[in-house]
Amino acid sequence: MKTSALRPGTLDQADRPLACTAEQALRGSGLPDRWARRERFVLLATAFGRGAQFLAAWQAWKADPQRCERLVFMAIEDRPLNRSDMAQAGAPELARQLHAAWPPLTHNLHRLSFEQGRVQLLLAFGEVAPWLSELVASVDAFVLDQSDGWDRYRLKSLTKLAAQGATLVMPGRNDALLTQAGFQLRRDDDLTLARYQPRFIAQRPAARMPVAPNARQAIVLGAGLAGCAAAWALAEQGLEVRLFDQGAAMAQAGSGNAVGLFHGTLNPDDGLHARFNRAAALELRRILPALPLPWRIDGLLRTESTRNLEQMQGLLAELGLPADYVQALDAHQAGAHSGLLHQGPAWYYPGGGALSPPSLARAFVEAAPADRVRICAGQTVKQLRRAGDAWQLLGEAGQVLADIPLLVISAGAGSLNLLRAQGWPLRLQRGQITHLPAATRGLRVPAIPVAGTGYAVTDSAGDVWCGATAQDHDLDPSLREADHGHNIAQLMRLSSAEIEVAQLNSLRGRVGWRVIAEDRLPLVGALPDLAALEARRDQPRFIVRQPGLLVATAMASRGITWAALSGQVLASLATGAPCPVEASLLDAIDPARFDARLAREQAG
Ligand SMILES: Cc1cc2nc3c(=O)[nH]c(=O)nc-3n(C[C@H](O)[C@H](O)[C@H](O)COP(=O)(O)OP(=O)(O)OC[C@H]3O[C@@H](n4cnc5c(N)ncnc54)[C@H](O)[C@@H]3O)c2cc1C
Repeated sequence: MKTSALRPGTLDQADRPLACTAEQALRGSGLPDRWARRERFVLLATAFGRGAQFLAAWQAWKADPQRCERLVFMAIEDRPLNRSDMAQAGAPELARQLHAAWPPLTHNLHRLSFEQGRVQLLLAFGEVAPWLSELVASVDAFVLDQSDGWDRYRLKSLTKLAAQGATLVMPGRNDALLTQAGFQLRRDDDLTLARYQPRFIAQRPAARMPVAPNARQAIVLGAGLAGCAAAWALAEQGLEVRLFDQGAAMAQAGSGNAVGLFHGTLNPDDGLHARFNRAAALELRRILPALPLPWRIDGLLRTESTRNLEQMQGLLAELGLPADYVQALDAHQAGAHSGLLHQGPAWYYPGGGALSPPSLARAFVEAAPADRVRICAGQTVKQLRRAGDAWQLLGEAGQVLADIPLLVISAGAGSLNLLRAQGWPLRLQRGQITHLPAATRGLRVPAIPVAGTGYAVTDSAGDVWCGATAQDHDLDPSLREADHGHNIAQLMRLSSAEIEVAQLNSLRGRVGWRVIAEDRLPLVGALPDLAALEARRDQPRFIVRQPGLLVATAMASRGITWAALSGQVLASLATGAPCPVEASLLDAIDPARFDARLAREQAG
């Protein structure tokens, strides 16, 4: 999807009466009756304004004892209000919560979560037409803001999202178009009410079908950042989750560093990497305040080595990225944030920062609703096997440890063995980080993390960690003096400081392994069924999947930033809940992308 700078909305425009009032939208959608006792109800509105329709739906949901378990309100807004204008939306409690969660105005799908995840708002900022073909959801009720602009093609994108019997509320008349698109019409005042009842319903692409829509239990294999986030997201969807790990506790392997960085990125072409990084960074930033984390640092600097400040500002203007996502700072301003001496400009990410990865992993589990996540520590899984309708986890002696209809593989480096048969281009990369006590001679302790070539970050004790090395296919677990020397040399350049360490071999540090996919995006999605004979394999979405089997791995050096969004994507793929990323990003992180690429190559 081509992204462009967003134009923020104005109050005048947001306050124009929506073509259909919040009450009409609810009544026209048959609510609250239609959501009674359902697992999930999904609405999609093509305008948001100040959120009157969403707030009314949320209020009605709260007031209804027969309400559905989960309400998902999706809205596309071309001219979103900025946060300060949203603040004027009035003070009732729900509007206040909406304002507090309001995201930066970036061209993204923003997932706002309320009522312990039972009410979700998916805000798509940008134009309606491109977003309609990028949303992945099964919608029960459409509320269209305008009668004009709807042609055959746009309605087709809309009906691709429609659940059987979906309703539609629309101002004015568009009878012939709607009838052709498969809607049956009714009229109410000036509104068109319609129900989607086509004679023929086109099958959704194979990869857009939920892999375990009826599962109530799941096992997540691997309790690092990826697994703990997956468990949290599945628990939010109502599943009971067992979290298996060979370690004695959570997050002892790749996710075991004392401290790590998180942040978004930016790139002139705003391609898949930049967009996924931004979506993930924004998801993490939204959920962090609600997670039980003992400690974190807010704000992060990335030094810039090729552009000057003017060029950086030009790039920001071109991309339309707002200051609450990223700012361009000169060396002096950067130093005011970090306390270090900077030689050049830097990008400042106010929503980035640092935290302890094991604390984040634990916080995901603690934040899961109703104690729905149970840890099963000290369980080494050697093999997986399909048995009837379930997946079996086999232990070291071949014994069955558990069987389950829905399994998520998030075993970090251990995933490579379990997924070997897939033949995906994954590699292990050794990394060593170095600990420097705050009192080290010449060391400047950064107030916020600073990254560039290498990084420096302060931990909760006030000491500094710097790193990191990157050695492919290197399985040596011992701390190396040469690697400490490399990390300290990088830190000296980054912080313009002369650091004196008498004995490198006396330093503490940690060695870990990153799992990296060839294209440096994570693997998040359902496993392809390699034996299936589908008509098309050239796009990941057409590739048939194995039932009840998902993977979240290849978190590379961004597990902190990527884990939460990856978990939410997995939960939507498992249950059929609306997907929190757009179709092009979903395809970009789909593990079947490698199989699709191979199919394209073979087809010439
Ligand atoms: C030196 C270094 C510095 C880094 N710095 C950062 C940073 O600043 N910011 C950042 O975002 N990321 C950073 N990373 C990357 C980050 O650590 C990873 O992306 C992340 O930890 C991966 O999480 P994971 O859950 O996929 O894997 P892991 O944390 O490794 O979790 C996998 C789990 O699966 C378990 N397991 C494996 N096999 C089996 C089996 N067969 N049976 C049962 N259990 C099994 C393991 O015990 C483990 O607990 C760094 C990595 C390194 C090496």
